[in-house]
Formats: sequence, C-alpha cells, structure tokens
Amino acid sequence: MPLYRLLLPAALCGLFMTGPAAQARSLARPPPVAPVAPLTLAPAFTELAPGAWVYQGAGGAVLLAAGEDGAVLVDTDLPKATPDLLAALDARTRLPLRYAINTHWHLDHVGANQALSERGAVVVAHENARARMAADTYLKHHDRVMPARPAAALPGLTLAGDGRIRLRGLELRLIHVPRAHTDGDLLAFLPDANVLHLGDCYFNGLYPIIDTGTGGTVDGLIAALDVGLGLADERTRIVAGHGPVGGKADLKAARDMLAEVRARVARLKAAGQTREQVLAAAPTADLDPRWGQGWVKPAQIVGSVYDSLP
Ligand SMILES: [Zn+2]
Repeated sequence: MPLYRLLLPAALCGLFMTGPAAQARSLARPPPVAPVAPLTLAPAFTELAPGAWVYQGAGGAVLLAAGEDGAVLVDTDLPKATPDLLAALDARTRLPLRYAINTHWHLDHVGANQALSERGAVVVAHENARARMAADTYLKHHDRVMPARPAAALPGLTLAGDGRIRLRGLELRLIHVPRAHTDGDLLAFLPDANVLHLGDCYFNGLYPIIDTGTGGTVDGLIAALDVGLGLADERTRIVAGHGPVGGKADLKAARDMLAEVRARVARLKAAGQTREQVLAAAPTADLDPRWGQGWVKPAQIVGSVYDSLP
C-alpha cells in the first residue's frame, strides 16, 4: 500500500465537548463510534518557483513546468501510478501538455508515457534510453529482465545529445550526460524558474544507483553531478530522482561523497583486491550512517563503483 494512503483513526474523529454536559456524558456509556471512511491524501504538485512544481509519487520525482499556452513534464512515474499522476496534473493546470521528458529508461520514470501521448504530448528521451525501453533489458540492480515497453509507450522524439524546448514563456534545456546513471540520461534545467531536475543521476541524501548493466559508470555519474553544480547557483531548487528537493549544498555533498567512495574503492582495486575482498573491507563504513540508510545498501554502491572503474 502506498505510504500516502493514510487511514484516519476513528479515535481522532470525535468532537470535543467541555462543561457540565460533557461531564454528564462522560458518566454514561459512550455513544457508538460510526465507521470512518479512509482519508486518501493523494500526492499533488507543489510549487518550487513561479511556473514550476514537483510531484513525489510512487516512483521517481516528476517536475511540471508551465508556459503561457502549454506545459512540459519531466518524468512520468510508475505505470501503476498513472491515474494518480493524471489527477494531480489536471488539478494543477488546464494548459495542454506539449512534451513529457524521460530522464532515462527505468520504469519508475516512464510509466505514464502512453497515457500522456494519447493526450497529445510528445514523449522525449535520449536515443539510448528509447532503445532500452524498446527491448527486453536486464536490470542488474534488481536482477531481473524488464520486458520491452509497448510501442505506444515509447518516446516519439529522441535526442542524440543536448536539446532545448521553447514554448511561449517557457524554456527547458535538456543536457545529455554520457554513461552516468545509465547510458541515456538527460538532465533538465528551467533557467527562468531556476529549477533543475537531475533524474536518477542524483539521489538526495542516499547512495545512488549506478546501473552498470546499461552503461552507467561512477566517473560519468560524478561528471553529471559536476554539470549540475555548474548550472546551479545558491538559489537553484534541485529535484532529485529520489529523495527530497534540495539545493546546491546538498548536491555538492552528494558529489563529494561519491568521489570519496570512488577514491577508496579504486585504491583497493589498484592494489589487486578482488570484488569480494573490497566488499569485505567495507570501505564506506564511516559514510554508511549518513548515506546508506536508504534502499541502496553500502554493498551495492561499493560493488557498482568497483564494476565500473576503468
Ligand atoms: Zn533510474
């Protein structure tokens, strides 16, 4: 069950009374408590800056940007969460959605592609990301094969490098960062709103996933975070693929952590240690309390850094 579906306990729903009537009532048998319907707190788009909102649903974070006569979405959550995403979108804007960007191929970032295409949006991704979606693809992190997406869910427009979308009153820069989280990542930057979405190149406050099975590398990921730092200033709102929205200092901390992990693992690998020996040495033990409490465990970040080192 999603975390946002909360049941309001019946005990919280009673009316408070004071005075003699309340005292008299308290001596009698309490009245039966009527059943209370579940209170659903569905996720919604919350404002980051004028014309830019973020949505934290079931999967990767979604960014919405609105111009004068059209809107753009960055990432489209999990397939099963599409009804929630569409409801939140309709509640936030009446503007037609012109484009939906996929920051990369993973399912928790591309789920509503088909529904949004059917509403008239052009789905955009890097060409490597589309190729991964179009074929059965092994996902190393979960040790399973992700089946090819239906043709109707595939991006209709692909980029081989950077791109730029302009609507009236809206500019969205798309920056391809090679071999970072995967081999088909796009960063998305709204210069006017000063909002940056780094997709899964950035997990705020936790170890990141490096999908070495589809071209991710630690060096590419560090380089991607450096691109993000170069775009950001002290006021930039930075959307992480997973984790809360942060600022430049949070991004810098994540970048420095990853560079430190890389240096430690590289030292051991260069000394001739096998993957198993490096894992057994627990080279991130002092970093784990801060970064290793999420769903990416220390052994996973150490293993993927080891695998992707040149
Ligand atoms: Zn991902």
